[in-house]
Amino acid sequence: MTPEFERSLSDYAELIVKVGLNLQPGQRLLIRGPIEAAPLVRMIAAHAYDQGGRLVETIWSDPQLAVTRYKHAPRDSFTEHSNWWWQAGLEYVEAGGAVLSITGVDPYLLKDAAPELIGTVQRTEGRAAVPLSRRISADAINWCVVGYATTGWASRVFPDLPPAQAQERLWDAIFRTVRLDAPDPLAAWESHNAARAARTAFLNEKQYTALHYQGPGTDLTVGLPENHLWIGGAAPTAIGIVNVANLPTEEVFTAPHRERVDGTVRATMPLNLGGNLIEDFSLTFEGGRVVDLRAGRGEALLRAQVEMDEGASRLGEVALVPHSSPISQAGILFYNTLYDENASSHLAIGRAYRNCIAGSEEASDEEFAARGGNNSANHLDFMIGSGELDIDGITAGGEREPLMRVGEWVI
Ligand code: ZN
Ligand code: ZN
Repeated sequence: MTPEFERSLSDYAELIVKVGLNLQPGQRLLIRGPIEAAPLVRMIAAHAYDQGGRLVETIWSDPQLAVTRYKHAPRDSFTEHSNWWWQAGLEYVEAGGAVLSITGVDPYLLKDAAPELIGTVQRTEGRAAVPLSRRISADAINWCVVGYATTGWASRVFPDLPPAQAQERLWDAIFRTVRLDAPDPLAAWESHNAARAARTAFLNEKQYTALHYQGPGTDLTVGLPENHLWIGGAAPTAIGIVNVANLPTEEVFTAPHRERVDGTVRATMPLNLGGNLIEDFSLTFEGGRVVDLRAGRGEALLRAQVEMDEGASRLGEVALVPHSSPISQAGILFYNTLYDENASSHLAIGRAYRNCIAGSEEASDEEFAARGGNNSANHLDFMIGSGELDIDGITAGGEREPLMRVGEWVI
């Protein structure tokens, strides 16, 4: 590690603790990440204690062990899982602690694994995760997701470079996406958050009943539930801590109405599922449900995602990102949702975030659905933004107001 890189990594760790988590004196911090991320995790722990953190603990993962499992484990064992992994997170949430997840595994890690086994594990883990992900999506705690440039991931993003150089390039890109290249990154985040907060305030005031999307292969109306809330820019969690749950983040997002989505939408970027690409695909909706889907590649995989459970065939997120965002302009396909979703306006099938419909944090699944919110074990983002996408807001009176033109905000 060169002294220069060590400084950048420490600055990144500091940003994660102060802006991403906004860790409070007296809080505990649980970090979940791959063992390759140990250098960053150690720096995060140091900054966390500097901020007054009481206890920092980690749950390490070794992505290679997943490959070993798919190769050697009994075929009928993939519906099994241990609960302690999720319980650890819940214990932190109940105690008012913070949770950090570090992503960055090789996007092609599972390319040789059987798709139906991948689907089984996703379904099993998805269900096991529901109690924790519901608490997290209700913003019960300050949580954050960040990336770590592992060698495996870097080599996929920059396949023509030698591994060390690829990793350097990916770190450079990651540091830029989180504005560490700004003269004062903390101040840069303050103004970035303020700009997004102004947009969410505008959209929350407007309370459009629907959005209409128009672009190549896309003609889609997405209904928005009553009392929907746009989120983006730093917002206080249920326990009053203002944090930024994704570093980077460029989006403002809300919950679509689970029964009021009609028309066809074409994805503008490929989707990577454990090394299996879904490309050139479109979804058609009627009354909120996917009634048709087509993909140039990976159609069966996409179908399995949509059929995971009843809610997986409906939308759970609508997010707006200008085409000129720094991540979009970097022109890199990261093969990682944290980055790719912030390059482009996107939708997600599956679970909606509880804090996107006012007063729903503690609502039962039935109450949430009655308000238009979607429940599912799945939450799968796919990108639909481009420099050719126009989006209108539709008012309660049925008037159309331009929100985005050729991929850029007009408000
Ligand atoms: Zn999103
Ligand atoms: Zn999402």
